[in-house]
Amino acid sequence: MLDIAFIAHDRKKDEIVNFVIAYEHVFQGHNLFSTGTTGKRIMEATKLKIHRFMSGPLGGDQQIGALVAQNEMDLIIFLRDPLMAQPHEPDIIALLRLCDVQGIPVATNVATAEMLVRALDRGDFAWRELVDKYKPEEV
Ligand code: PGA
Repeated sequence: MLDIAFIAHDRKKDEIVNFVIAYEHVFQGHNLFSTGTTGKRIMEATKLKIHRFMSGPLGGDQQIGALVAQNEMDLIIFLRDPLMAQPHEPDIIALLRLCDVQGIPVATNVATAEMLVRALDRGDFAWRELVDKYKPEEV
């Protein structure tokens, strides 16, 4: 069971909803997370249960980023809007940077998301079960 996060900017929300509907059978059985509005939209359209963080502009990207920093997310599907400036651009860059720090698979468009979810369905993410996740040090 993997930890998977969904984020979509406003003009990408229909796209992520349609994407998750198409692959609902793959996502069910995993631990799902999202920013606030993205998760609400997906849950309205599917039977999936999603742990929703705050809305992206209010800090949701950073909340997901905190788990990424600890290597606790296994896959991020983040449909960014490349044609619209976002007020929380620094948070977006920070989240993607942390995915690169940890080597966490992240899709920023639906074509890549599709390849990753097919890989997930094939079992290609088994290596993520083996990674060392951060554990706070004992005091
Ligand atoms: P939202 O946040 O899912 O709450 O809309 C996503 C974003 O815009 O970063």
